[in-house]
Amino acid sequence: MNVKVFKLIPEEDIKNKVKELADRISKDYLNKELILIGILKGAFVFLADLMRNLTIPSSCDFIKVSSYGKSTESSGIVKIVADISMPIEDKDILLVEDIVDTGLTLQYLINHLSLKKPKSIKICALLDKPERHKIEIPIDYLGFTIPNKFVVGYGIDYDEKFRYLPYIGYIEINGEE
Ligand code: 5GP
Repeated sequence: MNVKVFKLIPEEDIKNKVKELADRISKDYLNKELILIGILKGAFVFLADLMRNLTIPSSCDFIKVSSYGKSTESSGIVKIVADISMPIEDKDILLVEDIVDTGLTLQYLINHLSLKKPKSIKICALLDKPERHKIEIPIDYLGFTIPNKFVVGYGIDYDEKFRYLPYIGYIEINGEE
């Protein structure tokens, strides 16, 4: 199988955007107890950069959901593989996602985390594919709107490959997007 990666968002643009998002979040959460919850594995690089750019104290936890595996199409079935380990009751939560595609993962996780009674839950997503939405979830902090392509890099994989790329690219498999 021949997989080719084409650059979509350069490293420098990601860096600037993360700084911009972190500045907004730092202002909005001033004097609050912010917990970032990263959705694994795709959001780990984004969360790390976001956290380092915040000018307020924060803590973090992670939740792992089942991934696409070798497929580039979502099954629409969300499974929690590993839940958060911190208590979040009465805390301000920022759910950090790599890509919003159909929106089903976020809907499921918002419902799941709400049962733990946090004070607030907001969403921060690096990428959004509006063409693919099945439900509309308000994204409070969004990096980039992208076309309907399968993307990799900056923590995001195709079959566990390409997470290490410092930029966001899209892939073509055997000459097809
Ligand atoms: P949703 O539930 O919104 O359909 O899917 C969200 C999840 O699907 C993302 O967290 C990500 O793991 C995966 N996903 C959606 N689009 C892409 C893509 O273009 N590339 C990769 N690698 N994963 C994607």
